[in-house]
Amino acid sequence: MSDYRRSLEEAARFMRDHDRFLIISHVNPDGDTTSSALAAALMLEELRKTYVIVNEGETPSKFGFLPRFEQIRNLATDQLDESFSAVIAVDAADSLRMGGVRHLFAPDAILLNIDHHPTNDSFGHINVIRTDAAATAEIMFELMEAGGFGFTKELAMCIYTGLLTDTGGFRYSNTSPNVMEIAAKMLRYGVKPGEIAERCLEEITLEHVQILRRSLQSLRLTHNNLVASLRVTHDDLADTGASSEDASGLVNYARNIEGVEVGLSFVETVPGIVKVSLRARSFVDVSRIAKSLGGGGHAKAAGCTIKGELAEVEQRVFARLNDALGVSADE
Ligand code: 5GP
Ligand code: MN
Repeated sequence: MSDYRRSLEEAARFMRDHDRFLIISHVNPDGDTTSSALAAALMLEELRKTYVIVNEGETPSKFGFLPRFEQIRNLATDQLDESFSAVIAVDAADSLRMGGVRHLFAPDAILLNIDHHPTNDSFGHINVIRTDAAATAEIMFELMEAGGFGFTKELAMCIYTGLLTDTGGFRYSNTSPNVMEIAAKMLRYGVKPGEIAERCLEEITLEHVQILRRSLQSLRLTHNNLVASLRVTHDDLADTGASSEDASGLVNYARNIEGVEVGLSFVETVPGIVKVSLRARSFVDVSRIAKSLGGGGHAKAAGCTIKGELAEVEQRVFARLNDALGVSADE
């Protein structure tokens, strides 16, 4: 039996052996971490266990159609006065990605880390990591099978949503035969693909369009046109009323430009703090660049958060790209 199979069985045993769980989705939650957290919750319900799902901040309301969404507690607004001995983190590449949740861990807490990021540092006591999985939701499906959990339409909605969002609507290069086979199975449980795509991929907020319009004015091509970057200042966010969540996805406009190898977005979420998103087209491994700057992710999609003024942060990222591309920013 492979180590991965063994870890799935260990995870299922862990879920059976404890009674109350803390489930954690990663900071700035996306469709995969949210769906995977809710899938874990549904699996625990089947075992008649109790749980609390937390996120350091707010989970985007566009995922509000997912079952048990209303159970997710936002720690920024909702204090929690309990400590947990059994903890499950989903889609978090390192312990920092769990956010400020440590105070909820009992001293003897056992941590189950379920993830698919190549930069995962195995921070759990039990680590279920498959870096060639397209989404953590794909691993959740395999956990359900390995643990003999029953499938329901609700679980299928979670798995399908995680797969859909982390493959960019079944378009990215991580869209494997396994992904399509699992997605097809989920449809047989009654998942409505059009409705989920509408909620997760098609519908955008007015604030997103407003911040898009502003950020496009900042478009800059550097490194002999191999790098395209967009910037959003904190004033841009304040003026348009956009949240940092509204600014997610901007990076794709940069990366999608013909001939561009790396797309970047620099979003000053709070003055002096810049969230950097990196997307590569073919040969640059942006996860290495993000990791060297304190973040992580996948070869073609990665991110990090850096303290500093926008121009200074841009220079730091550009310098890393000079090395990766063998071209300097001003060429
Ligand atoms: P995004 O740019 O959409 O926030 O993130 C792209 C990918 O990089 C996602 O897989 C996300 O989990 C990962 N990522 C983004 N920011 C960080 C970070 O600060 N640390 C780590 N380890 N991964 C990140
Ligand atoms: Mn993911």
